[in-house]
Amino acid sequence: MERDLGNEKLINERFRLSGRREGQEDSIVSVGKASFGGGNISNIAGPCTIEDYDQTLEIAKAVKEAGADILRGGAFKPRTSPYSFQGLGKEGIDILYSVGKEVGIPIVSELTTLKYLDIFIEKVDMIQVGSKNMSNFELLKELGKIDKPILLKRGLYATYEEWLSSAEYILYNGNPNVILCERGIRTFETYTRNTLDILAVPVMKRLTHLPIIIDPSHSGGKWWLVEAGAKAGIAAGADGLMIEVHTDPDKAICDGSQSLIPERYKKLLEELKIR
Ligand code: PEP
Ligand code: MN
Repeated sequence: MERDLGNEKLINERFRLSGRREGQEDSIVSVGKASFGGGNISNIAGPCTIEDYDQTLEIAKAVKEAGADILRGGAFKPRTSPYSFQGLGKEGIDILYSVGKEVGIPIVSELTTLKYLDIFIEKVDMIQVGSKNMSNFELLKELGKIDKPILLKRGLYATYEEWLSSAEYILYNGNPNVILCERGIRTFETYTRNTLDILAVPVMKRLTHLPIIIDPSHSGGKWWLVEAGAKAGIAAGADGLMIEVHTDPDKAICDGSQSLIPERYKKLLEELKIR
C-alpha cells in the first residue's frame, strides 16, 4: 500500500471517521464559548495539579484575565513514581468545579480510570486523556459513548497514525468531539523534558479534520521554553494552546519549573494576538 498518509485508501481502511477526505473542512469542537478548529484558536491554562481552593481560585482569575478560555488542573495525576503527589482525586475535581463556576470559565481535567467517569461527566466540561493513557483503548471506547469534548494527548512514543487511531476509537464509538494535543515525544535528547514535534501540526492537519493544539509546557519542561514553543505552534497552524500557569511556581507541588507566571502568560497571548 502506498504510504502517503493523506491518501484515500488509508482513510477508507483505518481512518474512516477521523481522516480528512479531499476538500473536507476542519471540524470545529466547542467547549462552552470556546471553539477549536476552522480558524478558531482557544487557550487552556492553569496549574499542573489542583493544590487547594484558594490557589486554584487565584490562578483561575489570573488566567481568565490574561485571556484563557478554559481552566486546566489535574486531580488524578499519572505520576512516574508512586511516591510522588498523586493529586487530590475527587476533592480536586470538586475544587476545580466550584472555581470554574465562581470565575465563569469551563474546566478540563484528566481522567485516568473509568471508575470516575460519572463524576467527570457531571462536573468537567472537557475530559483530558493524558499521554500515558493514549493507548488505553477501553477508556477511549467509553469516552466515545458520551458527547463531552475529549482532549487526546499524544503518547510519548506514538506515531501520527497510532495517535489518530486512538482518536478513531472515540469517533467510532459515537463521539465526534475530539481535540488532539501535541505535547512532545521522547527522543534521545534529555536536556528538554520531551521533544516538541512542531511538524505534527501540518501533518495532522493533512491527515485529519480534527483540531490540534500544542502543549509547550510538558514538551520543553522549562518555563523559558514555553514562549518559543507556543509561538512555533501557532505559526505552524495550531488551533490552540494548553499552558501551565502558576502564581507561585517555586512553591508549586508539581511542574513549577515549566509553569509561567500569569504576567508572562498574558504577555505571550498579547504578542500572539490570540486573547
Ligand atoms: C498534563 O497535561 O497534566 C499531563 C500529565 O500531561 P501529559 O499527559 O502530556 O504528560
Ligand atoms: Mn504538568
